[in-house]
Amino acid sequence: MDLNTKLNQIYGIGASIYKKLQKLELNTVKDILFYYPFRYDDYSQIKKIKNLQNDETTTVQGRIILINNKRAKTRRMNITEALLEDETGQVNIVWFNQAFITKNIQVGDKMFISGKIKKTLLGYSFVSPNYEKINSYEGKNLRTTNTARIIPIYPSTERLTQKQIRYLIKASLPTTYLLEEWLPKKILKNEKLLILNEALRQIHFPDNQKKLKEAKERIAFNEIFTLISLAKSIKRDNQKNKALQIEFHEKQIKKFVQSLPFKLTNDQRKTTWQILQDLEKKIPMNRLLEGDVGSGKTIVALISAYNTILNKYQVALMVPTQILAQQHFENIIQYLVKKNITIALFTNKDRQIYNGSKKIAETLDKKKIIEKINAGKIDFIIGTHSIINKDIKFKNLGLIIVDEQHRFGVNQRHNLLEKSKAKKSPHFLSMTATPIPRSLALSIYGDLDISQIKEKPLGRKEIITRIVEPQNRTKAYEFIYNHIQKGHQIFVVCPLINESDKLGVKSVTQEYEKLNNEVFPNLEIGLLHGKLKENEKKRVLDDFANNKIKILVSTSVIEVGVDYPNATIMMIEGADRFGLASLHQFRGRVGRGEHQSFCFLFTENSNPKTKQRLDILTKTTDGFKLAEADLKSRGSGDIYGTTQSGFLSQIKIADLSDLKLNQKVRNWVEKIFNQDPELKKYPLLKDKIDQISKDVHLE
Ligand code: ADP
Ligand code: MG
Repeated sequence: MDLNTKLNQIYGIGASIYKKLQKLELNTVKDILFYYPFRYDDYSQIKKIKNLQNDETTTVQGRIILINNKRAKTRRMNITEALLEDETGQVNIVWFNQAFITKNIQVGDKMFISGKIKKTLLGYSFVSPNYEKINSYEGKNLRTTNTARIIPIYPSTERLTQKQIRYLIKASLPTTYLLEEWLPKKILKNEKLLILNEALRQIHFPDNQKKLKEAKERIAFNEIFTLISLAKSIKRDNQKNKALQIEFHEKQIKKFVQSLPFKLTNDQRKTTWQILQDLEKKIPMNRLLEGDVGSGKTIVALISAYNTILNKYQVALMVPTQILAQQHFENIIQYLVKKNITIALFTNKDRQIYNGSKKIAETLDKKKIIEKINAGKIDFIIGTHSIINKDIKFKNLGLIIVDEQHRFGVNQRHNLLEKSKAKKSPHFLSMTATPIPRSLALSIYGDLDISQIKEKPLGRKEIITRIVEPQNRTKAYEFIYNHIQKGHQIFVVCPLINESDKLGVKSVTQEYEKLNNEVFPNLEIGLLHGKLKENEKKRVLDDFANNKIKILVSTSVIEVGVDYPNATIMMIEGADRFGLASLHQFRGRVGRGEHQSFCFLFTENSNPKTKQRLDILTKTTDGFKLAEADLKSRGSGDIYGTTQSGFLSQIKIADLSDLKLNQKVRNWVEKIFNQDPELKKYPLLKDKIDQISKDVHLE
């Protein structure tokens, strides 16, 4: 067996288990070794039966003196009852619906039983405990898997049992010796870190709590170390590149800015200026534009794009969703109307060209558009990640803009950079509304320059946010109705009902029907989800834009970017099911015009903790403050857990908000890269980073 051995080669793993494993993307021994427990049960304490206490979690060791199955009278349930004895007394055991246990355990067997003790009328009982036979050959060397130690609990969604996963891990552990230690020795020594293979063994089957802590520390260190090293190596490679120098066309840009329907905020001016200066430099720009939802990032990007096009270079704008791509396309055409600029919308399902004076609106042949892009006949291409089409080779790409960067992996820059035929590299601008502290952004997004837009455009009113409890639902509906009478529009966002409804189709359809048939039968209501046909989606969004549809019921597809200034109420069903960052994004869909806007968070969950969490939203609309509050209360999980960014999903153990660890690791990485930028002395580390940069996929 080695690290690449397929899991179905392991004794006892049949086709059906293997299929479930594959659904969790667990194919090889290596995969399962890096599938970490999400928590542990500590059964390491072994007690004598006479010393047991109510409610404690513990292990006893003894001999089975009675075991049998019976059927429960009331419910159709099987109960297995057993009696275990040690030299100090006896304890009851019950299991439910696990009749097969009587096949595995016989009277006379020596066992470990681990679980929670309950005091009942009949004395002490274990209810549904873990059990394990003590085999004579194991003797005193207690190599248990499910009892009498700290037991790992794994995330399992595919109906794999904990026993099955533990079995597989245990079988795979010997191969940890084949894992190469890629972290430089001096770091291991100085930081007193466990070596990699030991850390892996301990993270699965810890000898004790201290070892477990050390294992987590080592693996967290690894994760942050590779993250920062990857960022460093991207920066290093970037600096080797020569950039296309893009001149500032002062006259035309000033004229353009003056022609806008609004005055730029100071922050918009400042950040635009930073970008325009970067574009003139010989090394490619790598800048993150951070600004809360509604802060007006698009126009900053657009001015930069326009300036690039004036230099006769192409611009690519990549966004995470089809809807957003379409909306950017429509808006940008308005801004660049009659400027003799050719703009293409390029997504998998919808492709259009604006030829400088009119739209060629029918869905164009993919090949033909690609030919035009490659021949440099299109100045500005706006699309989803389908832009990373293997056939696209831009003639002279000058600037890449990635909107809502938090939705993409760290490495997309790399993929996009290779899309240009020009010898010189394009500049790179990413934008995000996920407000994160600077130091954190550095680790997550690479060693990039950061521009922040902190002020909102003038005249914006604070969005009023309220938690709506079940008894106030009718009142909220009345409020909504009144607003619609005044000419405003409403978003309704629904969470997924259940796992099988991955796209949320069922949940929005139910909500839509309820609102349409029962609550607001006389209003025009629209339905939006990922499974609709393209033309249907487009019709719904157009009708919403034209105020024909008053209420738009949607899945979270509405989360990013879209802009409808006449929508003034965001109503979120099952608000407790979303992360704060997502809720903040939803909320950002309203409050975009001059009208007072509202966000209603509906929840049926009465847990005070839930309320407390949602309360943060009612107190602030400042994304930066929100992020800070969120980080303080729960670590990085919530903010980043909901963003399915490719790379962050690799961070399993480390807490990204641990700024101290971040700084410590950063110091090491800088030291190494300063002394040896190409990592010649660290071939294993170099391999590791190369490997990761390949593994990181765009989502
Ligand atoms: P985001 O930063 O969330 O991407 P957008 O760029 O979509 O925000 O801008 C939100 C809205 O604000 C748009 O309707 C845009 O036209 C408008 N806007 C942008 N800048 C200003 C400004 N300086 N003054 C007034 N409105 C602005
Ligand atoms: Mg935006």
